[in-house]
Order: sequence, then structure tokens, then C-alpha cells
Amino acid sequence: MNILLVGAGLSGAVIGRKLAEAGHSITVVDSRAHIAGNCHTERDAQTGVMVHIYGPHIFHTDDAEVWDYVNSFETFMPYKNRVKTTSGGQVFSLPINLHTINQFYNRTMRPDEARAFIEEQADTSIAEPQNFEEQAMRFVGGALYEAFFKGYTIKQWGVSPTELPAAILKRLPVRFNYDDNYFFHRFQGMPENGYTEMVARILDHPAITVHLNTRFTRDMADDYDHVFYSGPLDGYFDYELGRLGYRTLDFERFSYEGDYQGCAVMNYGEETVPFTRITEHKHFSPWESHDGSVCYREFSRDCEPDDIPYYPIRQVKEKALLAEYVALVEQTSGVTFVGRLGTYRYLDMDVTIREALDTADAFLAKGTDLPAFATSPL
Ligand SMILES: Cc1cc2nc3c(=O)[nH]c(=O)nc-3n(C[C@H](O)[C@H](O)[C@H](O)COP(=O)(O)OP(=O)(O)OC[C@H]3O[C@@H](n4cnc5c(N)ncnc54)[C@H](O)[C@@H]3O)c2cc1C
Repeated sequence: MNILLVGAGLSGAVIGRKLAEAGHSITVVDSRAHIAGNCHTERDAQTGVMVHIYGPHIFHTDDAEVWDYVNSFETFMPYKNRVKTTSGGQVFSLPINLHTINQFYNRTMRPDEARAFIEEQADTSIAEPQNFEEQAMRFVGGALYEAFFKGYTIKQWGVSPTELPAAILKRLPVRFNYDDNYFFHRFQGMPENGYTEMVARILDHPAITVHLNTRFTRDMADDYDHVFYSGPLDGYFDYELGRLGYRTLDFERFSYEGDYQGCAVMNYGEETVPFTRITEHKHFSPWESHDGSVCYREFSRDCEPDDIPYYPIRQVKEKALLAEYVALVEQTSGVTFVGRLGTYRYLDMDVTIREALDTADAFLAKGTDLPAFATSPL
């Protein structure tokens, strides 16, 4: 079959590769001038540092098949994400761990002592937390909440934490040991030559043709047996029901001679600092050596029509609109909506790849009877 993939990000590349290997003819279009979607990496012209253009991307997964998959296209170098945060004139380790707690309270507690101490700090008068703020207060108490969660969350989401669901903090966000590895997953690493190189290798197949700077329009579908669409769900319908809410990011680049902050990611927990974090990209490639350094200050705000959609908001209002778009999708045929934009969900890269592999398998089993959503966005 002739198949059109809209989007040359991980979703499009992984589905395209699997279907190409099964003998289908694949065309990939992307409106941008590069492949790899939001995982795109490129070398900074001034410093030679590999930069994560759309924000820091660390690969982490428990899915051994996905880990084998990415390693079959690119060498992954050992990398552990160790995040720091500046708050109240000090630098702390994240996620909140025993070092953070002891430093914050100027104590030398052992794990059991710290656990008992944090239980004392927790606001036990909150029996059933109704929102993010109450959930955090219930878990860690007011002082840690104010220092590490409140300001960052307000800057990231642009609303009071009392307006966000409690479910964002599903479990106690604290470790009572000195483990400062940001992710729990078994497999973690960084692609030696960047994510774009990896995606280029995934797309490198004789049955795949890629057209960059090419925006999808619905009439293109007439030339194909099936379309996999990883662009914005509302965009497919020309926003006819309104726009699904997203947060967007602005990056302010600056360079520095030497080492600016000594780590890849430094969060800023206070509301008075306008940016959420600074990323110093050369620390993502510790196996490389660069004298110069390039950093991005990251600012978060509501997404306007011409901005890049980053984080789906998915609150009550947005979910109601999403349900209306899902109903519209149910009246369409010949297209399957995939990926983070096509299903209006935040998806880590490993989940994106897992879903893309499963979607391609489902297509190979069912052909064009594939449902419009291989994974429900609701
Ligand atoms: C700030 C940020 C940080 C992240 N950090 C991590 C991390 O540390 N670890 C992790 O695992 N994941 C991370 N992610 C998630 C990761 O970015 C996604 O998993 C991944 O990008 C999803 O791939 P995708 O192909 O579904 O979407 P995308 O990468 O967005 O690709 C979609 C592509 O479709 C194209 N497109 C859209 N509309 C059209 C159209 N009409 N016509 C043609 N082309 C179109 C776009 O240009 C884009 O290239 C992060 C995400 C963000 C926003």
C-alpha cells in the first residue's frame, strides 16, 4: 500500500520504518525544515555543543524491547539525569531526597528519622486532598511545598496549584535515601550523536521518502491508502471546534566561556524568577569536551495560534473539547491519529516508540480497518 505519515518525529519515523520493512511504500511529510520532531538535536554553530533545540530530552525506559530498538539505530551513552534547584538562596538536589531534606532543615537525619520528621510536617488535617496544593501539603507540609513545588508549578502551568488536580502528585514525591537519579527506570542514556541522527537512521530505508517543509492538507490523503497523522488533533480539522489548550515554551539562548552552572538542568523554584529552569547542554554529552558552553533559559506560557504546542493542558475545559474532537474523528476514515499531538497527551519518548511499534503491528494485522485511535486520547 501507499501510506502517508504526517510528521517526521519519533511516531512517524517508527511507524514508517516498520511498515516499510513489511513491504509498504512510505511517504513522510513534515512542515518543519528538519526531522525528529521535538526531539530534534543539532550542534550549536558557535560552541559545537549538541543542543536539544526543543528542550532537554533524556531517554529512560523500563521497556527492554524499546531500549533494544533505539540501541539498534544509535549508540546510547550512559547518562543519569541529576537535577538541581535554586531556592531561597541555596542550591538543592532534586527529586527531594535525604540530602535535600537534611540541607533544607539543617539536620543530619537518617532515613527513618527523616521519614518520621516529614510525617510530622505533613498537614494531616487534609483528609481527602482536592487539588495539587492540598496533595503536596498533605505529603510534605508547607515549607517544602513552598520551596520546591509552588513557584515552579505556577510558572510551568500559569495557574494556582489549587486549580490543578491532586492526581499530578500521585505518591509521596520524596526519597528517604541519597539517590538523586531523577528517573527510576532500568535503562537510561543519551544518543551519542543526538536524537536527529537516530531518527535519520530509522528513516533510512529504500521504501521511505521524506519531504520536509511540507504541511499536510487533507486533500493529500486522496493519493494514499492510509494516513498516520502525528500533527495536532484540532489542526487536522482546521480548529473548527476551537483550539485545544497547550503550554508553550520560549528559550533564551546565551553562551558562556567555561562551565556556567556545573550541571545540565538547574530549576528555579521561586515565582519571582521569571524562568523555570536553565539547561546547559554540554552536560548532556559528558563524553565530549567543549571549552565554550551554550545555555537556554526556559520560560513557560499559554500557547497562541502561531506558537509551538508543548504541554497539553488537559483540564476540565480542554477534556470537554477533546471529547468533541474525538467524536469528529469517529466520523472520519482512512486516518489513524498517533503520537503526542495526534492524541493530545504528554508522552515520553519510550512510550511514543512503544505505541508506534504497536500501532504498526496492529496495521499489519488489520490493514485499513485500524481504528482512528490505536490508543484512546480520553
Ligand atoms: C519540553 C519537553 C521535554 C521533553 N523531555 C523528554 C524527556 O526528557 N524524555 C522523554 O522520554 N520525553 C521527553 N519529551 C517528550 C518527547 O518530546 C515526545 O515523546 C516526542 O517528541 C513525541 O514524538 P511525536 O512524533 O509523537 O511528536 P513530535 O516530536 O511533536 O513530532 C510531530 C511532528 O509532526 C509535524 N507536524 C505537525 N503538524 C504537521 C502538519 N500539519 N503537516 C506536516 N507536519 C506536521 C511537526 O513538525 C513534528 O515534527 C519532552 C517533551 C517536551 C515538550
